[in-house]
Amino acid sequence: MRQKLVETLINKDIKDKDVLKAIGKIPRHLFMDSGFIDHAYQDKAFPIAADQTISQPYTVAFQSELLQIEPGHKVLEIGTGSGYQTAVLLELGARVYSIERQQELFKKTSKFLPKLGYRAKSLIFGDGYKGMPVEAPFQSIIVTAGAPYVPNPLLSQLAIGGRLVIPVGDDVQVMTLFIRKGPKDFEKHEFGDFRFVPMLEDKN
Ligand code: SAH
Repeated sequence: MRQKLVETLINKDIKDKDVLKAIGKIPRHLFMDSGFIDHAYQDKAFPIAADQTISQPYTVAFQSELLQIEPGHKVLEIGTGSGYQTAVLLELGARVYSIERQQELFKKTSKFLPKLGYRAKSLIFGDGYKGMPVEAPFQSIIVTAGAPYVPNPLLSQLAIGGRLVIPVGDDVQVMTLFIRKGPKDFEKHEFGDFRFVPMLEDKN
């Protein structure tokens, strides 16, 4: 079933071999509530705890591909959620720092990931709008919730040459890539429309 999902993603034009390999390896069904296990290898988003969703595999693959992660890269993720995207980043060899603002999900996922052998450098309960200044700069930052605007702290926590992948918009989000060319110089690229749960301010 997992291999079929990989084929679906290839048909949807995901090309990065390492990303496909990660998705072909990670047991997505274990990241979902038992009621949805039968659906785990469909290319769809599904509900997880705290009214949030595990992102659609295509979206995870699309964002991961844009990050161009190399082994050892320091990567910040906003919106740990189920931890599925975190696991993909870890499979790609990144050193992962991740922030989640829902206490329930933060607790659940912090316990769950190490059980599968996925060890992030740091999982914190906090507000992703602020990023993680003590650990900056990051080679990549990925936001997995729909951001009404681009938070400045995230741009300033990027290393020179670093990449921020963030879905920007209210009801529908445009997948946006920022590449930091210099201290004040950012290149911006826009991709297609996606739909995410909203990026909310402060902790819950
Ligand atoms: N990558 C996750 C996506 C979960 S959905 C997965 O595939 O499972 C988006 C997540 O972002 C939710 O868990 C939500 O609680 C979280 N989130 C929303 N606003 C946030 C913020 N300001 N800081 C950190 N996390 C946030």
